[in-house]
Formats: sequence, C-alpha cells, structure tokens
Amino acid sequence: MARFPLSPAARAFKRRFFPDATLAEWNDWRWQLRARIRDLAGLERVFALSGDERAAVARHRGPLPVGITPYYAHLLSRDDPSQGLRRTHIPVGAEYVRAPGEYDDPLGEDAHMPVPGLVHRYPDRALFLTTGFCSTYCRYCTRSRLVGEVGGEHTFSLPQWERAVAYIAATPQVRDVLLSGGDPLTIHDDKLGWLLGRLRAIPHVEFIRLGSKVPMVLPQRVTKDLARLLGRHRIWLSLHATHPDELTPEASEALDRLADRGVPLASQTVLLKGVNDDVATMTRLMHGLLRNRVKPYYLFQSDPIAGSAHFRTSVDKGIEIIRGLRGHTSGYAVPHYAIDAPGGGGKVTLVPDYIQGRDGADLLVENFEGKVYRYHDPEGTLGSAALLLAAE
Ligand SMILES: *Cc1c(COP(=O)(O)O)cnc(C)c1O
Repeated sequence: MARFPLSPAARAFKRRFFPDATLAEWNDWRWQLRARIRDLAGLERVFALSGDERAAVARHRGPLPVGITPYYAHLLSRDDPSQGLRRTHIPVGAEYVRAPGEYDDPLGEDAHMPVPGLVHRYPDRALFLTTGFCSTYCRYCTRSRLVGEVGGEHTFSLPQWERAVAYIAATPQVRDVLLSGGDPLTIHDDKLGWLLGRLRAIPHVEFIRLGSKVPMVLPQRVTKDLARLLGRHRIWLSLHATHPDELTPEASEALDRLADRGVPLASQTVLLKGVNDDVATMTRLMHGLLRNRVKPYYLFQSDPIAGSAHFRTSVDKGIEIIRGLRGHTSGYAVPHYAIDAPGGGGKVTLVPDYIQGRDGADLLVENFEGKVYRYHDPEGTLGSAALLLAAE
C-alpha cells in the first residue's frame, strides 16, 4: 500500500481511541468504513455528549443515521457541543422540529425522476443518484430522506443503474451527467469504473462530474488507482467542503493525487449558521481550497429540509459573505452563491447589487470599497429604476 500522510492530530487521536488499529489499517479506507462511529456507544467512547445530543441520538430512527469515520472524528471537538464541525455530524434535538417552509424533499427531486434515481430537471444535464451510502452523514443533508437507511444503505441496485444509463442513452439532450448520491466515491473501483465506462460510451455525454465529500472525510479512499481511474475517464470532481479545518495534510494528499492525474477540482459549500457563516472563515476556506488546486464553485444557501432551521442563516448573510470576498481577494476564490429553489425550480444565483443607479448616460457602479464610479453607457437602461426610487 502506498504511503499516506498522518497528521500529528490524527496520530494522537488514533493512539488514544483506536490503539489496536495498525497504521496500515488506519490508512485503509475499508478499515475506516468498518470502524465508523455509528451509534450512541461509539459516540460516547470518544465524545462527552450533551444531554440534548444523547437524547437526539437515542431517539433516531430511519434515514440519515449517525456515521462518522474515525479519521473525520479527529476533527470534531470532543467536549464542545457548539463546535461547528461537531454540530454538522452529531444530531441534536432541533433535528426533530419541522420549521415552517421545511420539507422532506425541498427540491422536488422525486417529482423530476423519469426513472428511479435519476433527476432530470435542467434541459442538458442529469443528476444520477448512484448510492444511498455515505462514509459520513452530514446532519443538514439535502437528501436526508434517502441516505443511509438502516439495513438499506446499498439499495441502489444494478438494474436501477441500468435503467438510468438507458434513459441517458435514449435522451440526446443530456450532455452533462452529475453523479451523486449518497457519495459515489464510496463505490468500489471496479463497479465505479464500470459505470463511468458505460456513461463515457454514450456519444452525446460530453461532461461527467462526480459530487463527493470523500476527500474531506475519508481521504484514504483516494488511492492512486482511484485517481488514475477518474483521470482516465476525464471526470471532474465537485468536492463538498465545509470548513478550513478539513484541509489537513491527509486531505491535501488526496486532492494532490486527483489534480496530478488531471481531475479538475471544484468545491461546493453549504452556508451553515455557527459553522462557516462569517467572512473570515469563508475566506480561509476558499484560500485553502485554491492552495489545493480546487476552484470554489458554489456556496449554497442551506436547503429547507425538515429539521434544519438551526443551521440556516438569512440570505442577507450569504450576500454579506460574497461582498466580503469579491474584490477583497482573487476572483478565483469567489464561489457562486445559490439558492436551490424549493419545489424544483433549480439553482438561482444571487449577487450583491453593485449598481447604484444611473445619471443620464452614465451607469453608477459601486466597487468593493463602497466607492461609486461612472461608466459611460449611453444605450443602457440599467439603474434607471434605482434613480427613480431615489428621486421619490
Ligand atoms: C445542481 C444540479 C445540477 C447541476 O447544476 P450546475 O449549475 O450545472 O452545477 C444538475 N441537476 C440537478 C438536479 C441539480 O440539482
């Protein structure tokens, strides 16, 4: 097995909580999956749980179970229930409260499935749900309704894949296929390679990308063989990144392996209250991603899944964060801020309003410092409404 880095923090954690695991086991993604923390006893062995967390875990039934790889557990605070990353993975009672405007399937995905497991909402691209399994379950998961069903984590069967592939093959307008789940990088190389090969053989499929949190939560999965497989099939990767603490030496190794094999890397981040909802944290995350050759792609307003209100910020906060990035740092570091419109409207991107108004033939625009500049734009109409409002 190829060498894999072990950060001092992970080493100390391993020595204390998994002393019997060999280094080879710790660095083996299959061992990490087998050793996942999945229940109250497993959590209590590592974490000092609050009464609220303990009750929430004890009460849990159905999909979105507790699941945390030992590797990722080392990034969670053992004694502070308010730490951001810990809140994203250990349930609390607020998960059982359905707030107004929250739904089990907020994006209306189930209504846009021409065949089971394939969401075709946009004209030219399709979302292929490959598995219901993740190595690690995020408490704000958009697909909390269908991931990690106990005993049914792998119910996405081969016949279902075949139907989805057949639909794409029979639908020439689909030129872009996005593989998601669950986490498609938890699928073994041979099965994943088979699926990628089938999709690549469809002449009108020009672009295949894969959405995954694996490089952050199970970087050991990114073996040299996997990186080679993805590179060979010309796959793009959309990486789910939450917080700069995730960018460990282990994660960097995983991302290097992918980038070195020519896999273009982009990121997706969910804006989460008390986790990453401030300009300084988000700037650190975006800079850390760029250092690892990952282009920040989307910052999502958190989807209104049932029991997620404790994670949700106002939309103002998202705009404030984009304002705090744009112009203050590289344009490369600025993601698109998007709301996924409830009911299946798709992604709507939002930008701060930099148009201040119009003065005759001049458009008045505000720069990142808040200074107003004129741009001569004699044929334009933008900004006229603002002028009228200001004049009233
Ligand atoms: C997000 C998403 C896509 C991809 O959208 P892009 O803006 O191209 O990244 C495709 N299909 C569905 C259903 C999606 O939710």
